[in-house]
Amino acid sequence: MSNCAIVGVNWGDEGKGRMVDLLTEQYDIVVRFQGGGNAGHTVINERGKFALHLLPSGIFREGVVNVLGNGVAVDPESLVREMCEVSAQGVSLTPDNLMISDRASLLLPWHRELDELEEARLADKKYGSTKQGIAPFYSDKYQKKTVLAGELYYPEHLMEHLLSLMEWKNLTLTRVYGARPWTEEMLRQWLKTYCEVIRPYVCDTGAFLKKASAGGKRILFEAQLGSLRDLDYGIHPYTTSSNTMAAYAPIGSGLPGAKIDTVIGVVKAYSTCVGEGPFVCEMFGPEADKLREAGFEYGAKTGRPRRVGPIDIPATRYGAEVQAATEIALTKLDVLSYMDRIPVCTAYELDGKKTDRFPFPAALAHAKPVIEYFDGWGCDISSCRRWEDLPEAARNYVLYIERSIGCFIKYVSVGPERDSIIIRERN
Ligand code: GDP
Repeated sequence: MSNCAIVGVNWGDEGKGRMVDLLTEQYDIVVRFQGGGNAGHTVINERGKFALHLLPSGIFREGVVNVLGNGVAVDPESLVREMCEVSAQGVSLTPDNLMISDRASLLLPWHRELDELEEARLADKKYGSTKQGIAPFYSDKYQKKTVLAGELYYPEHLMEHLLSLMEWKNLTLTRVYGARPWTEEMLRQWLKTYCEVIRPYVCDTGAFLKKASAGGKRILFEAQLGSLRDLDYGIHPYTTSSNTMAAYAPIGSGLPGAKIDTVIGVVKAYSTCVGEGPFVCEMFGPEADKLREAGFEYGAKTGRPRRVGPIDIPATRYGAEVQAATEIALTKLDVLSYMDRIPVCTAYELDGKKTDRFPFPAALAHAKPVIEYFDGWGCDISSCRRWEDLPEAARNYVLYIERSIGCFIKYVSVGPERDSIIIRERN
């Protein structure tokens, strides 16, 4: 297990942070390789409860180096806020345990503003953005219209670069949206309040990782969101603006030649989805409210109630396939304990035909779920720590999912705490 990626198989919020927090014990370095502060990992460990948005989930382990790779949308404002929160809870952050890639692009202050303006313009056709500026950021990154974190070490060049970007961006802000323009004074304030705080953490993380890898250090790659939100493989256009795939980990982390030995795909025992877009297995009414409450399904970043449904086998199989998952961590099985019978979306009905394939995004809106029911187990399983401790009905449910998606379920999580986990051996 020298290089491992922990990735989401569904729509995000599967419990990746919880798995990274658990497994960092076996790793020296944790690297975030994509995304920004638009989602969140909730981690509960002996130090308390934390909502992480940008910081890698290895930040709680002494001796673990945490890296924000070049593929991440580094938002100095939200990063500084998060660093202050985590430090106030007793976690020490130094340039020895937190490193920001000098090649990571910075999310600029107008990206968040543009995100809000565009969602407001789209009104009832909005994408359901978290309004953290991620889509405008990545669009600008690929247009080469943002700055690299390493430019913070070249202040004169940086100011000149920022002013030229500001002049260009003010055209969109004022002429397209009728918003106020940014000024040099506002930019200087942003640099002073946020960028100067993060500058000591910015370094050549590519060189660091290359040396660490050559020296046999074990590296864990941590993703944000899940397969179905991947820019290329997800439910376009209701995706995020980056690649959430394990295959992107080497590129987005700064180790382009790295081989990922283990891909842990994190799957939730039921489905949740934040924001807009097709969600074939969605439940409504009191049944949905009960599941949402049982799993406390509210967005870690926005507090928005998550849409919920039974586990979606066609989507999960597809999600695991595109991640090339080598093993699965099934989370939140304990949440289903209240159900007498457990619904499962085993297939879709599309154009009057049953299919177990996950369809092309444009066809998803017409797909209907085929629901089957499994026996519930009718007892609390949160104290189970061995596979044999689980009631037979719970084991049957796990084994059904394993067979249906064709990937070994190594971890079964039965609670949010670090040790609420069952680890299975392959037969
Ligand atoms: P992530 O972004 O994939 O890390 O997921 P989130 O942090 O948004 O959502 C996962 C939530 O479920 C967090 O609040 C976790 O503390 C919680 N959680 C993770 N695993 C389990 C589990 O097995 N059982 C229960 N009850 N909660 C869990």
